[in-house]
Amino acid sequence: MTGRVLVLGGTGEARWLAERLVADGVDVTSSLAGRVADPVLPPGAVRVGGFGGAEGLAAALAGVAALVDATHPFAATMTAHAAAAAAATGTPLLRLQRPGWTPRPGDDWRWADTLDDAAAAVAGFGSVFLTTGRQGLAAFARLRGRCLVRSVDPPDPPLPERTTVLLARGPFTVADELAVLREHAVEVVVAKDSGGPMTAAKLTAARELELPVVLVRRPPLPPGVPVAATVEEALAWLRAR
Ligand code: NAP
Repeated sequence: MTGRVLVLGGTGEARWLAERLVADGVDVTSSLAGRVADPVLPPGAVRVGGFGGAEGLAAALAGVAALVDATHPFAATMTAHAAAAAAATGTPLLRLQRPGWTPRPGDDWRWADTLDDAAAAVAGFGSVFLTTGRQGLAAFARLRGRCLVRSVDPPDPPLPERTTVLLARGPFTVADELAVLREHAVEVVVAKDSGGPMTAAKLTAARELELPVVLVRRPPLPPGVPVAATVEEALAWLRAR
């Protein structure tokens, strides 16, 4: 791979890809949105903050040989901007996105298309564990039951009336998750279909305790953009450039 690679990050995969590229001597810059106050930084060059829309990103692609969109499966705006900016500038673009989760025997999963739909699905429960992250919690603000919100940084209002905030950064073990579910007498878990092993322990713990999980479906991917499911696949795509 010759030339600079720009990795749109904010995920473990983005960090692992940067590690591998740096180890291979590739010129890589990782981009972070700047949402997390104290992020785990990848090796290599790092830039922080928005680009100023798809046009700003297109301008930042000058001198970039390949763009890898390794943002979170739910970072739909950034993914759309990456597709638009790559098309406008003729920059090769790869979407690196881990596969979603699939249910196992014993799972009681209820799919929701949006956070609003997820809020409606849990409205009748007395104790809800919200693991959807700090953003978008307004969708749950009208819940009347007890809500446990877990996020890396403190969430902004509006929040449900009876909210307990648990500040924590994953990955979590199944034992960690079982302890949280029991301590807070959780009746239902709400999660995004993020996929991957880093945040899957809550699903295992919910299965063990026979708790339902409301899973929010991923937003669709932009058409025509190649997708890699793993860092290895992304490296193979980059080596072929
Ligand atoms: P988003 O809604 O898709 O993007 C909103 C805006 O944030 C973008 O238009 C862009 O601003 C800026 N942005 C997003 N990702 C960026 C990046 N990697 N580098 C520079 N600017 C970025 O994104 P989001 O859902 O808020 O996610 C923000 C970050 O958190 C991403 O890096 C994502 O990977 C990570 N993350 C998101 C989730 C989630 O559930 N959404 C979960 C875990 C981690 P401009 O238009 O100004 O360029």
